[in-house]
Amino acid sequence: MPKSFTEAQRHRVIGFVLILSAICAALWLAWFFNQPDTGKKKGTMLLMRLVVGPLQVNCFIVADEKTKEAVVIDPGDDAADILKLIKEKDLKVKYIVNTHGHFDHIGANKAVKEATGAEILIHEADAPLMAKAAQQSSAFGMRAVSSPPADRFVKDGDVITAGEIALKVVHTPGHSQGGISLLEQGVAFTGDSLFAGSIGRTDFPGGDLKTLLRSIKKNLMTLPDDTKVFSGHGPASTIGDEREENPFLNKESGFE
Ligand SMILES: [Zn+2]
Ligand SMILES: [Zn+2]
Repeated sequence: MPKSFTEAQRHRVIGFVLILSAICAALWLAWFFNQPDTGKKKGTMLLMRLVVGPLQVNCFIVADEKTKEAVVIDPGDDAADILKLIKEKDLKVKYIVNTHGHFDHIGANKAVKEATGAEILIHEADAPLMAKAAQQSSAFGMRAVSSPPADRFVKDGDVITAGEIALKVVHTPGHSQGGISLLEQGVAFTGDSLFAGSIGRTDFPGGDLKTLLRSIKKNLMTLPDDTKVFSGHGPASTIGDEREENPFLNKESGFE
């Protein structure tokens, strides 16, 4: 049998428990308000990649797991493969977003739009480039491709939503005048602006090296190191790895 507490002991125990509760509550509140998103928890973003066309463009499909609403980024070619995946995953494609207007990134716009009813979005400054896709592709000695005109233009600061997914548009000109990158949940889709270990070419019409470096510095290198980089061609990377190892961007290049 435990010894019964005296009145004074009982008060001490109650006081102790109250103080402990207050500390726990304060710690929890501090944790809660330090969360990056204090609103409701975001749904899971499904991310799929297909490598399409002779220039091996990365076409990404991002979708909200719950609502199945999706965005197709850079459907450059191989429409049948893209549409097969969309059907398999039962996705409702709301938007086709082109990171820029080069022919290798827009070749399947038409077929994906016709099959899904999605709107085509691009930065206004690259609309003329997209309109000249056939000329671009024949200059490369490739099958002529074309795209319907954009349904809407996007600009820096716009947010493209599909379910709970919110892709933030950042204007990253330099590879082309209307190049954009898309940011969401620790991921950056960088089109042909930034690659793993390299940057986009600037010798095409509308390209400019200084502009491209400024874009990358201002809009991409300011992201946290653990941000995943998904480029228009080649493997994935992180902002931290590019900061350290990209010969165009690291300290030795005088980039800082
Ligand atoms: Zn390009
Ligand atoms: Zn490209």
